[in-house]
Amino acid sequence: MADVVGSGMTESHPTVDDPGGPLRVREAVADLLTGVTCLGCGRPGRLLCAPCRGALPTTAAPAVLDPVPPGLAPTWAAAPYDGVVRALVVGHKERRRLALRAPLADLLAAAVRAAAPGAGPVLLAAVPSRPAVVRARGHDPLGAVVALAARRLRHEGVAARVVRLLAPRGAVADQAGLDAAARAANLAGSLWCPHVRRLPATAAGSRLVVCDDVVTTGATLAEAQRALAAVGLPVTGHATVAATLRRHPSSGRPAPTGATSEPLPLPRADRLH
Ligand SMILES: [Zn+2]
Repeated sequence: MADVVGSGMTESHPTVDDPGGPLRVREAVADLLTGVTCLGCGRPGRLLCAPCRGALPTTAAPAVLDPVPPGLAPTWAAAPYDGVVRALVVGHKERRRLALRAPLADLLAAAVRAAAPGAGPVLLAAVPSRPAVVRARGHDPLGAVVALAARRLRHEGVAARVVRLLAPRGAVADQAGLDAAARAANLAGSLWCPHVRRLPATAAGSRLVVCDDVVTTGATLAEAQRALAAVGLPVTGHATVAATLRRHPSSGRPAPTGATSEPLPLPRADRLH
């Protein structure tokens, strides 16, 4: 979901470790000077206090998609896109609260563990953002979270590596208000793999996991999977920080995705300042 084509990276090397962005120090200092409160409980001190961080999920669950895009590899989400997790995603992505990168990386790492269990080699391919989006934000939120998640996994003994395989191609209309079928049509052909030849030979035998921050209909992940398959790279699974909850309020059944257009996800936005 996210910004139409998620938020990852687009150019040059197929492997990368820290696309943190030049604002890192400035933003961190600003947080220190202005004082912050916990996104979970409002306690002053940290953007996410220790108890609230400790209450975050440590395992992932299969994302519930209805309909499931045809052929979509198993898709995992560490949390529902709600409450504090939603505030973490938005605070990091839109407000550059870089201290939130660590808990987000923990959540994504949990999803990767579920998508590719065990210590065998795993390649993490982030869904890319359009370059203009990265420039406007001043950082590459998903790319940074994926890089840190890979580091977490390596510390646990998992041979995890980030690979810059996917890149956006062409213009994509805003996904907001589109149902699952319309999203899929809108996204068809929007991603490609220009750097696949740079994939090191040592990557052979690795499992490939596509990473995104939030899964909504699965259309973006399906497009990523299609682009990778087109260059001969089968996707083992998809790992996301969170999955949106789309239940029809009266029936309790999943609603068409366009029917419950999400308000801009800014719960506790006041506390993000
Ligand atoms: Zn708290």
